[in-house]
Amino acid sequence: MNTRISLIGCSGSIGRQVCDVVRRYPERFSFSALVCGSDEKCLSALAEEFRPAFAALADREISISLPQGVRQLRGEEILRHCFEDCDVAFIAASGFSGLSYTLRAAALKKKIALANKESLVCGGELVMREAERAGLDLVPVDSEHSALFQALSFRRDAPYAKLILTASGGPFFRLPKEKLNEVTAQDALRHPTWKMGGKITIDSATLLNKGYEVIEAKWLYGAEFSQIETVVHPQSIVHSLVAFEDGSVMAQLAYPDMRLPIQLALTYPERIPCLPQPDLSALGSLQFYPLERENFPCFDLAVSAGKQGGTAPTVLNAAAEVAVTAFLQNRITFLQIADTVSCALDLIPFERVKDFGQLCETDRRARICAEHYIYGK
Ligand code: MG
Repeated sequence: MNTRISLIGCSGSIGRQVCDVVRRYPERFSFSALVCGSDEKCLSALAEEFRPAFAALADREISISLPQGVRQLRGEEILRHCFEDCDVAFIAASGFSGLSYTLRAAALKKKIALANKESLVCGGELVMREAERAGLDLVPVDSEHSALFQALSFRRDAPYAKLILTASGGPFFRLPKEKLNEVTAQDALRHPTWKMGGKITIDSATLLNKGYEVIEAKWLYGAEFSQIETVVHPQSIVHSLVAFEDGSVMAQLAYPDMRLPIQLALTYPERIPCLPQPDLSALGSLQFYPLERENFPCFDLAVSAGKQGGTAPTVLNAAAEVAVTAFLQNRITFLQIADTVSCALDLIPFERVKDFGQLCETDRRARICAEHYIYGK
């Protein structure tokens, strides 16, 4: 059977690796829709190569012609039609904007391969409500959550005692706190083990990303926050672990390459060739350390917003998106990313989650708040 994929976020780091998987197994996978933000060149090259039924730019009009047989979607048509013809909705867009696609795919009862963290960080309550109602197949693509899924034998409802997320520690692991004020965007973009997009690489350096992953794990596996631990593992070979009642711990090991969790999200429970297995004797030792929480306040900010729930994680995420953009433009320092997030969380009152429209409004207000804090307008 050929699995038809609607890929949202085809021009990003994850999106391009989804294309690699499809390219390697054309008899198993094809695209029914390709959507990205504004990278017209990338979209038209992929449309030419893969000939999906639909192609769209979410942020602007396409100014060049698409190959014959590929229908361009515009504006509101995108959300309405992009999952029409697919077996799997692959949500690889980054940021809050991914949530609308996840909710739409869930409403259509599509299988969802979820690489967009914000869908669960901001919209966890709405997405899980929809997923449970429809009995959805919601498959994690984030390497840590894919590792947990594997250690749980592909059962999100399997019993466990603890979920243990690994973190590489990012480029500033073990750097003295006073040095953290001097680090630049260029330093932060040098991630030791993973090649990723700009926003998530900075979020990995601040450990905000790891805080997001704690929230994702809570929603995906119905965990209490007290059941989720995080440990630094600089080699990024063990992608996460599950501890059971009897003291057993199951780990998933692989070289750090997103094509494995991407491919597995599409084929599980079946496994097909993807990477060479890790050469353990060549790797030598695998190390584990406690997380340096005091140097990376974004981690605790994210976890406490997750514990608070409601609209707090949406405020956190919106402020972080604004702050990271400012940091990448050298407008604020590394440590001011956490200050910006903390300020927005203090100023915007907490609400219980009602619907998507309310989250959009919260997102908008938190962005304005963060911009005021940074640019003083
Ligand atoms: Mg991850």
